[in-house]
Amino acid sequence: MDLGLTGKVALVAAASKGLGRAIAEEFAREGAKVAMCSREESAITSAAEDIERKTGNKSILPVAADLSTREGCEVFVQNALGAFRALDILIVNAGGPPPGRFDDLDDTAWQKAVDLTLFSAVRLTRLALPQMRKQKSGSIVYSTSTSVRQPTQYLNLILSNAIRASVHGMLKTLSSDLAKEGIRVNAVQPGRIATDRLVQLDTDTAKRQNTTPEAIRKRYEETVIPLGRYGEPAEYAAAVVFIASPKASYINGVSLQVDGGMLMSMF
Ligand code: NAD
Repeated sequence: MDLGLTGKVALVAAASKGLGRAIAEEFAREGAKVAMCSREESAITSAAEDIERKTGNKSILPVAADLSTREGCEVFVQNALGAFRALDILIVNAGGPPPGRFDDLDDTAWQKAVDLTLFSAVRLTRLALPQMRKQKSGSIVYSTSTSVRQPTQYLNLILSNAIRASVHGMLKTLSSDLAKEGIRVNAVQPGRIATDRLVQLDTDTAKRQNTTPEAIRKRYEETVIPLGRYGEPAEYAAAVVFIASPKASYINGVSLQVDGGMLMSMF
């Protein structure tokens, strides 16, 4: 299937590793021009070089930017626009808020998580819209979490559970508001995809339960996830890239979970 991505400009936020990195690589493989960011110059440059090597795509722009700040979001979008003069697709992604229970977290921790998870989505969207409106088309995908539908099993993630829900409220409203301008807005929700973030979370849960991260993973794989394994970042990226692409032209306002069947809700 030709996804219609050749020459399209895709911005992938938080992409030096993990889900963002896999999404950037998939866009590159599909022939898109890709701008990708993370905080450290060396990490994002080396990820971009690696993607270039693997895909042969020379239109990969690494940008060092901290998405938890207004300036960082501006630097990312302005650099991408300066290099590619267009913006067709925005993938909103960021590092996850730290694990913790309600009693562990003060106002500063909540504010940091709001800046990273909610405000990066607000700001990147606000910065991308003028160009998309000029082009009279665009596609925005928020990469969030299945925890929006059902908080994670061990409940250490109250920041993520609480704040990502507001991103979904925003996306559903925007999908209706922006449709008339040719801009689609959707979300993709990872369940348990094998990245460093999952190692961090499983290590935290293991500490709280006096067991090992391997035992936590095994429990998920044997009793929680019907497909019996954690997903691969490339499997997640395939779903994001499809929904973002012109081939998904009538898909708007949806949230697609990519979780091996983990959630038991009907919708
Ligand atoms: P990861 O730790 O493997 O990668 C995170 C990426 O974000 C890295 O490139 C890092 O440099 C970048 N980053 C972090 N903070 C940043 C900042 N302030 N500015 C710019 N870049 C920043 O994590 P991941 O597994 O790829 O997860 C990505 C997001 O998806 C996180 O928010 C995570 O909570 C969420 N999520 C992941 C899973 C999963 O299964 N992996 C499940 C649910 C939700």
